[in-house]
Amino acid sequence: MELWETIKDKATDLGRSAVKESNRMVETVKGNFSVSEAEAVVRKLKLELGELVYAAYQNQEELPADTAMEKCKEIDAKIAEAATMKEELAKLKNQKKCENCGNVTSRTYDFCPKCGHSL
Ligand SMILES: [Zn+2]
Repeated sequence: MELWETIKDKATDLGRSAVKESNRMVETVKGNFSVSEAEAVVRKLKLELGELVYAAYQNQEELPADTAMEKCKEIDAKIAEAATMKEELAKLKNQKKCENCGNVTSRTYDFCPKCGHSL
C-alpha cells in the first residue's frame, strides 16, 4: 500500500514537471517567433530607408536629414526590442549572455567558454 502511494506521488510529480516543461517549451517557441518577427521588421525598416535614399537620388534631391534620422531611430528601437526579447528567451532556456563577447551559454557556467570572461 505504501509503495503504491509512493508510486502515485512520483507519477503526480512527473506529471506536474511535464506540464511545466511543456509550458516552458511553448513560451520558448513563442519567444523565438517574436524575435524573428522583430528582426523581420528591422529588415523591412532598413529596406524602407534604402528606398527613401534611392528615391531622393532618382529625383536628384537630398533626403531630408530628419527623415533619415527618424527611420534610423525607428530601426534602433526595434533592434533594442529584439535584443530584450532575446535576453528574456535566454533566461527561459536557462542561458545567459557573456557581457564581454556576447556568447550565449548555460547558466551553470561561471566563466564564458568562448572568451573566459567571468559570468
Ligand atoms: Zn565571452
